[in-house]
Amino acid sequence: MRKINQNGESSSQADEAVVEESSMQEKEIDISGNREEQLPVVEDQNIFVTLDEEEELNNRILPKIDDGDDDESVTDEQEFLSGEVQNGVLYHYFEEVQKRLTEEAMPAEYNNSTFWIRPMQPFFALLKNKPVEYLYRPDIFLWIPHLLLNNKINDLHCPTCKSPIKTKGFNKKTHARRIIDLDRCFYILTKRYRCLNSICGSSFNGYDSKIMRQLPVQLQAEFPAYLSHRGAVSKQVGDLLRPCIQKSMGPKRISKVLRELHTLKHNRSELQYLTAMK
Ligand SMILES: [Zn+2]
Repeated sequence: MRKINQNGESSSQADEAVVEESSMQEKEIDISGNREEQLPVVEDQNIFVTLDEEEELNNRILPKIDDGDDDESVTDEQEFLSGEVQNGVLYHYFEEVQKRLTEEAMPAEYNNSTFWIRPMQPFFALLKNKPVEYLYRPDIFLWIPHLLLNNKINDLHCPTCKSPIKTKGFNKKTHARRIIDLDRCFYILTKRYRCLNSICGSSFNGYDSKIMRQLPVQLQAEFPAYLSHRGAVSKQVGDLLRPCIQKSMGPKRISKVLRELHTLKHNRSELQYLTAMK
């Protein structure tokens, strides 16, 4: 059964929190060679994993940092994973936000000491008679790191050839990167950077790992997600994966828990809407 979550997306997208879930098999393996005690058993399943197996499991499950593909090479699959539909609610919302940001030298959010663009909470939105589409607006994490450096763009360089870079504007085909959080999705909106060396010509997203490594640690630490090539999860969800797996809660179960939390969050918003419409 498919339900629609708070962002107007199919809740099966919570599966993204688990990388290649279908390929994961819960295994029954004797760990006595490495440990005296067996890992705790949940319910009726025996899930014993050796340390080597555990390491391999973590490597397969924990997301790897995305190296950032070119916007131009966005595939249909990536478009689907972003949750954006051409001319949909999210599409127009992101267009509106990008237009406003383009007109601001420094984003209003940064002047207010926050990275987040948050819509009104449902109660206030309904009080102000906002259309129902407003309730689908997600939180956006605004990541334009060069604006927060002492010498702005001059503090960054092309990771490929070390030449200076320039900003290339916002991504347009898929405006923002969708991140699976515990009970909702949020989006990361960033700019692209392009190398000024015409022979190199590389371009990178603001959250590309090679750009991130050039930032001060205290700025890197604010980034709220783990990105992989296909999907992305919030740090909270990502950090939950290891202890869950250590406690014998496999990827499929984690996915089901996330789906339930997303559905519950959506249902509560829907209840608010329906009672306000009475
Ligand atoms: Zn370059």
